[in-house]
Amino acid sequence: MSRAEELAENLAEVEERIAKACESAGRERSEVMLLAVTKTWPASDVEILYELGLRNFAENRDQEASAKAGQLRHLEEARWHMVGRLQRNKAKSVVEWADQVDSVDSVRLAEALARAAHAKGTKLDVLLQVSIDGDTSRGGCPVADVAELAGVITRSGDLILRGAMTVAPLTMKPSQAFEALASVVSGLRDDHPTATRVSAGMSADLEDAISHGSTCVRVGTALLGSRRLTSP
Ligand SMILES: *Cc1c(COP(=O)(O)O)cnc(C)c1O
Repeated sequence: MSRAEELAENLAEVEERIAKACESAGRERSEVMLLAVTKTWPASDVEILYELGLRNFAENRDQEASAKAGQLRHLEEARWHMVGRLQRNKAKSVVEWADQVDSVDSVRLAEALARAAHAKGTKLDVLLQVSIDGDTSRGGCPVADVAELAGVITRSGDLILRGAMTVAPLTMKPSQAFEALASVVSGLRDDHPTATRVSAGMSADLEDAISHGSTCVRVGTALLGSRRLTSP
């Protein structure tokens, strides 16, 4: 089987899972975006997925993503997301390739991204990454600090707060974390009307996330296969 046939088959399976989950949750398929997490996979795979109709791609390392997105400028409708932990000194580089940064989890990072977006003369879409269980070692801002960080993002004028993202913690049931994230976003929306996106769910738990209000599932393995390199 060619790589294109393999990816087409994987995509059909993922689409079917999403469609079923939407149906059982009584939601429209159009409410949930499929974000293909292409970290560690070659640009040629992104081209195949683009041909198959996907437009949203995510990466978690600035250097790899910058090279890949650079090779793929001809995919004019591709939209790139940064979903990984980000050091402030990479802000300038990230705004060169990312259309949205989904992993904003500190005031200092938000300020650095705002400065970089300002210098570039663009407004950058961001999600606030939330650590639902308060263990911030894998990234994310504790729930208690969300309001302050959201304020900094909105007041910057250079970042547009689009919502929040979480990675389900190992310490609690994913459904509990997804429910908590949805409630964080509904709280944010009162003060920040642009904050409507809820990014939750990966290959293993996308059904659970969709049933708890996710508007974006981030799928790597189920689309592309097991990653040979580990990407923290
Ligand atoms: C790698 C990654 C994913 C995709 O995980 P899979 O289990 O391969 O689907 C989703 N979100 C983030 C933040 C990631 O780093």
